[in-house]
Amino acid sequence: MSTLIRDVDVRNYRVPLPKVLCDAKHGTHTHFEIVTVTVRLADGSTGTGYTYTGGRGGQSIATLIELDLAPGLVGKDAADIEGIYDWMEWHLHYVGRGGIVAFATSAVDIALWDAKAKREGLPLWKLVGGDSPECNAYYGGIDLAYTLDELVDSIKQRLDLGFQGVKIKVGQPTLAQDLERVEAIRNLVGPDIRFMVDANYSMSVEGAIEAAKAFRAYDLMWFEEPTLPDLYHAYARIGRESGMPLAMGENLHTLHEFGYAFEQANLSFIQPDASNCGGITSWLRVAEMSKAHDIPVCSHGMHELHVSLVASQPHGGWMEWHSFPIDEYSTLPITLRDGKAVASDEPGIGVAFDWKKLKPYLASQKVISEPS
Ligand SMILES: [Mg+2]
Repeated sequence: MSTLIRDVDVRNYRVPLPKVLCDAKHGTHTHFEIVTVTVRLADGSTGTGYTYTGGRGGQSIATLIELDLAPGLVGKDAADIEGIYDWMEWHLHYVGRGGIVAFATSAVDIALWDAKAKREGLPLWKLVGGDSPECNAYYGGIDLAYTLDELVDSIKQRLDLGFQGVKIKVGQPTLAQDLERVEAIRNLVGPDIRFMVDANYSMSVEGAIEAAKAFRAYDLMWFEEPTLPDLYHAYARIGRESGMPLAMGENLHTLHEFGYAFEQANLSFIQPDASNCGGITSWLRVAEMSKAHDIPVCSHGMHELHVSLVASQPHGGWMEWHSFPIDEYSTLPITLRDGKAVASDEPGIGVAFDWKKLKPYLASQKVISEPS
């Protein structure tokens, strides 16, 4: 049976959030976007991949796939994931090396993995060599604008669900305000729950060192993105001068950037996001690099997919259960059992979109069947 790609269906969905979310650098989020890519093969089988945004850029990503990737994909062999990954990389290299190109190629790559997993009758975590569908999971709040009471309520709700780790946003106008919130949450969760903070690179290097030193009193597992993710040497300095473990990865969009981070930033955790670093192919390469550097591989965003990837790795760390509820639009919901996230056993990437539920939010759709 032929695995040549016959057509590519590209959609952009703009999904409203039940509550407006806010962090230190990206303003308010009223929506998130899901850009889906479904490849249909000559044998009639399909694979669906996707990427997501915080509400901006989705239409540009969808258009880039429609105009610059899909026509070149038609007629290619979907089984040649490495070959297509390499083709996409060079096809858009001059305008790419990150940015929305990385989001677009990620969605396509994930679709090819979904098709492969379905063809082989395996769930993703097994297909990539894992021996368990479970991984550690923490709840990642986008809660900077919450009042202290709202913040405490939100974390209480997650503890009631069984989460063994929680993360809150920091980056309030003053460090004293951040410390008040960090202290309140540590007091709420007690000493045994893992607790992290995330500044979304809102701090200067000096400010981050001061904050990291102050956070040390609260036994944090990590301080995420204290300053600009491009400042690899500054990360090393913040970690060295404060003694605080650091994490980042959601804003690294090329393997080269991950290479710099591993070599220069002295991170304690790495958080690749398969939706924006080049898909599952790239995520697995980052996992290999993290193993070589003896750093646990964690994840950012789209927990409904990353559960399979983090679970598959012997050095898998903590998966972020993100505040964008993409899992609620999948018919294969991720579950939380005894504090661990559990991936689906169904063949495929573990995410099967509920197209009916998504339909009211469809912003664009185009099916490309003509080769370039
Ligand atoms: Mg973050």
